[in-house]
Amino acid sequence: MSRLIVVSNRVNPPNPAEGGEGSVGGLAMALAAALREYSGIWFGWSGKTIPEFTGQLNMQRIEGVTVATVDLEETDYQEYYNGYANKTLWPLFHYRVDLTAYDRSFGEGYDRVNRRFAETLAPLIEPDDIVWVHDYHLIPVARELRRMGITNRIGFFLHIPWPAHQLVVTLPRHRQLVEALFDYDLIGFQTEESLQAFEGYVFSEVQGAKNARGELVAFGRRTCAAAFPIGVDAQDFAEIVKSDNARKTYDRMMAHSVFRKMIVGVDRLDYSKGLEERLIGYERFLHDHPDMRREVMLLQVAPISRDEVEAYQDLRGRLDGLIGRINGAYAEMDFTPIRYVNRSYRRDELAGVYRAAKAALVTPLRDGMNLVAKEYVAAQNPDDPGVLILSRFAGAARQMKEALIINPNSPEEISDALERSLSMSQDERKQRWEALFDNVRREDVTAWRDNFVAALRGRPGPDDEGQ
Ligand code: UDP
Repeated sequence: MSRLIVVSNRVNPPNPAEGGEGSVGGLAMALAAALREYSGIWFGWSGKTIPEFTGQLNMQRIEGVTVATVDLEETDYQEYYNGYANKTLWPLFHYRVDLTAYDRSFGEGYDRVNRRFAETLAPLIEPDDIVWVHDYHLIPVARELRRMGITNRIGFFLHIPWPAHQLVVTLPRHRQLVEALFDYDLIGFQTEESLQAFEGYVFSEVQGAKNARGELVAFGRRTCAAAFPIGVDAQDFAEIVKSDNARKTYDRMMAHSVFRKMIVGVDRLDYSKGLEERLIGYERFLHDHPDMRREVMLLQVAPISRDEVEAYQDLRGRLDGLIGRINGAYAEMDFTPIRYVNRSYRRDELAGVYRAAKAALVTPLRDGMNLVAKEYVAAQNPDDPGVLILSRFAGAARQMKEALIINPNSPEEISDALERSLSMSQDERKQRWEALFDNVRREDVTAWRDNFVAALRGRPGPDDEGQ
């Protein structure tokens, strides 16, 4: 069996020294499990910066997984990571042209770091290996590997949305970016919508076409593109919720919300998550339902993220103001309508929080998938499940039609969904949850990973003919 090499910006296998499995997400666990199975390597940035790039590989073995990392220069970090990845591609791909930076130096830093990654990675690749590159930080890795003569099968998965054609063309180097994707044998998107947007670009911007085998042909090359919606480790999550830590957290939450129904939100503090819209929706609910004010509370967990980027600092300031205003207007001496926490919690603690919440508000303005929506469902008590309120703009909405689907731009829709979820009969809650859980369990992270790897293995190799 050929080895699997996973390439991602950050490398994050479960490490018992850092709290073990409670501290890492399902994606990291699923990739680590695949790497153990195929005795592969996980390659990426160490998270450290040094004065001058050396290309020195740090090899480690963590929980049966070989991890290879490389340090980057401070300029690399600023231009590639804070710059092109987080100030250009992230906002643009989440439809925020207004927040997108188009600096040339960021694009140059992005290309340089991708070249450096490829040069450091290439000596580790053996002839039979398959390579799986993750996310928007690393689109040009395959191009650089191909330039060095690497002919292995290489696949790419985009964890964030692929935006509409008209947004992509605002990038000065859009053609180059899309052309770089054609150096992969397989490109995976989260949703059919992203896949169609990508195909739309290829057909109308570079006169590409689809051949009889369903492959995309453009730039004198061919590739395969498909949707592989990512999932969570539902079985594991349903187990974690029974752990001591989860139970303790659950008990704490229940004790603190006596006589009140808790609504929960869990998101990195990011402008794509619709946090302001959610709070305004909740404010509307408090305004419109004076009779229910004393029955509810909102817990918003929002760990600080990308704090060196101005747009994130601005958002944080606006949220502080908004929450202060709502709490000031609706609090009583013994009651605060919004409990707002800027730290992050372990998976087992989150599981307890999810289970204690009667409703979850997941209201992104754009999101590749949104794993919190799936985790919330996986953590529910089957006999008395809570209600998921989900934005139509989350990739997850495609699979989770039994949630209360809302448009996060409408405070009224959020308010109505809150009212509906808190007064929903147990029968209806169970019916909706069963359908949701069935999907979350079937389309889990292992299925996602196996489908992608099987599709990549199934691609014709570089020596096979057949245009
Ligand atoms: N998460 C966590 N601790 C926290 C908040 C979030 O472990 O305090 C995890 C959460 O369980 C989920 C992930 O972070 O697995 C967030 O994934 P999602 O797809 O919802 O959003 P992203 O942050 O990737 O945009």
